[in-house]
Amino acid sequence: MVAKPRCTSASAAQPLLDETVHEIPVHAGLGDDPIDHDISPDGRGSRERCAEREDPHATLGGSTMTTFARIDRGEGRAAFARLDGDRLRLLAGAPWERTSETGEEVPLAGARLLAPVTPTKIVCVGRNYRAHAAELGNDVPAEPLLFFKPPSSIVAADETIELPEESSRVDHEAELGVVIGARCRRVSEERALDFIFGYTCVDDVTARDLQKKDGQWTRAKGFDTFCPTGPLLVTGIDPSALAVRCRVNGEIRQDGNTRDMLFSIARLIAYISGVMTLEPGDLIATGTPHGVGPIVAGDVVEVEVEGVGTLRNPVRPRG
Ligand code: ZN
Repeated sequence: MVAKPRCTSASAAQPLLDETVHEIPVHAGLGDDPIDHDISPDGRGSRERCAEREDPHATLGGSTMTTFARIDRGEGRAAFARLDGDRLRLLAGAPWERTSETGEEVPLAGARLLAPVTPTKIVCVGRNYRAHAAELGNDVPAEPLLFFKPPSSIVAADETIELPEESSRVDHEAELGVVIGARCRRVSEERALDFIFGYTCVDDVTARDLQKKDGQWTRAKGFDTFCPTGPLLVTGIDPSALAVRCRVNGEIRQDGNTRDMLFSIARLIAYISGVMTLEPGDLIATGTPHGVGPIVAGDVVEVEVEGVGTLRNPVRPRG
């Protein structure tokens, strides 16, 4: 009943329409999923089964570079779409699902872009760049340092970052966002990259004073509008050496590179999925390079990730 994914059979030209690659029930309910019941004593049985059944490339078409958007269709409707030149070809579902194009298309220009993911959770990594840990007076962690941002903190490109009155110091943090493509749990580091759907830009906006005051980071990281994400979602790129920059009002504030991460993306996915099941569409914010600093009302913040895009957001006081 459950066939093995055919990673190599996927068509580069038709990443979404090749029915031969849609044999894996990526959205099987948790209760029906053998990965939750059949765990060998050392955990390897579970890990391998998970990896075998849910390779996202089975639904994606291998390592093809493709760009996706999520757009506002009006009247509360949203749709994912594949970018084809300057046109957006609408999809019937999320691009990591078994889905197809609807035949409708709209021009990219004029489309209202929404954040390109709707994650069940946003898992963030603190102090994943040595120079950033040092600039805030922290040691580098021995293991990945995890925290959450709530999905309610997401805003799209061009939407406003709202400064809460509780804080007098809100910082930008430019980060590469990793979007999960298939459910995974206890995945090995060797297989971890197979579970990535794609990449986007994230600004892990942080109330620095509240982060210090509270002792844990839920409030400092969790305000509404504190997770600008987008503008697009890019698949099939190599994330191992991408420039990650932040500009405020056009001036460079952060200029890092993912090759300087303390813990690689594969290590992060292995580590996080050892703690919690990652679902398709979940977002991992992989940490920020050095150069974080304050943003104030009237600023325009840009997070640029090489090959992924530029995420631009204005800053205003919360009304
Ligand atoms: Zn961060």
